[in-house]
Amino acid sequence: RAKQEGGGVFSFYAPEMNQRAMETMEIESALRLALERGEFTLYYQPKVDLASGRISGCEALIRWLHPRRGVVAPADFIPLAEETGLIVPIGTWVLKEACRQVRAWQAEGVPIANVAVNLSARQFRTGDLPGLVREVLGETGLDPHLLELEMTESMVMADHAQVVAVMEELTAIGVRLSLDDFGTGYSSFAHLSHFPINHLKIDRSFIKQIVTDPNSATIATSIIAMAHRMRLKAIAEGVETEAQLAYLRKQGCDEIQGYLLSRPLPASEYAALVRRDAGFSCLSAAEQGGGR
Ligand code: C2E
Ligand code: MG
Ligand code: MG
Ligand code: MG
Repeated sequence: RAKQEGGGVFSFYAPEMNQRAMETMEIESALRLALERGEFTLYYQPKVDLASGRISGCEALIRWLHPRRGVVAPADFIPLAEETGLIVPIGTWVLKEACRQVRAWQAEGVPIANVAVNLSARQFRTGDLPGLVREVLGETGLDPHLLELEMTESMVMADHAQVVAVMEELTAIGVRLSLDDFGTGYSSFAHLSHFPINHLKIDRSFIKQIVTDPNSATIATSIIAMAHRMRLKAIAEGVETEAQLAYLRKQGCDEIQGYLLSRPLPASEYAALVRRDAGFSCLSAAEQGGGR
């Protein structure tokens, strides 16, 4: 019928589907252009080691500096980038940029520790991730131990055997691996023990309720204990209050990350923070109630 009426393919679709498909295509080409025009940037959020009170490293978090909309958060474009596959070139850019930035900081004498980069499932499945990592480390000259790759449970559970092989290859290069948003996906604990990982990052949703909800507290405490039994470090993400910090310290959590210490910062502001070595001063100020 559509053919007879000369309606073309679009007449088979409901108007709202058409609309959605069009929007996806528009955003996809906007993202592609953004990459070409260099509109992406990385912000850096410090992690602090609770034993020493010092900044132990940072997490690189992507932002889209949109010419009209300003700073766009990853939640507003990463899912679409994943859906369209653009996350692969964007993820490659993130990896290169983070490594380049750390080298630049080293050259400027900024006492920088490691940088953690978030990976998407597609980057695991598409092409040769270890090859890419090797290439980027080679080009930038970054010490592999200074690079950490964050992945989520759902990513690593999906295709277990293949993923473990990739993780082992990455570990052999010397990069560190961590499991992000831990506790929210379905981890098979049996599988967990086979992953060559260094860190477990306790999801923000538990930390948020750690002092108000006994079940969240139990989960967080159990993750810390399990991490230690497996010789992994436990990191709490999304620490916003002194009470949360005090609780985590009491439970022996190794590192924390969150607004209590600092929001993610543009590179220059992050460098200034590290130069002041604000890890110690942030923590002690927060614990004396002098906070921010
Ligand atoms: P994530 O990897 O779990 O990163 C932590 C998120 O928590 C960041 O959000 C950070 O700004 C936020 N956060 C940190 N401390 C606090 C706190 O105390 N309170 C609250 N409410 N939030 C806090 P952001 O930067 O918006 O990133 C969101 C997610 O987007 C990330 O979650 C990650 O899954 C993804 N993402 C960010 N950058 C990249 C990237 O370069 N590649 C990929 N594939 N994903 C990325
Ligand atoms: Mg992360
Ligand atoms: Mg996380
Ligand atoms: Mg998260």
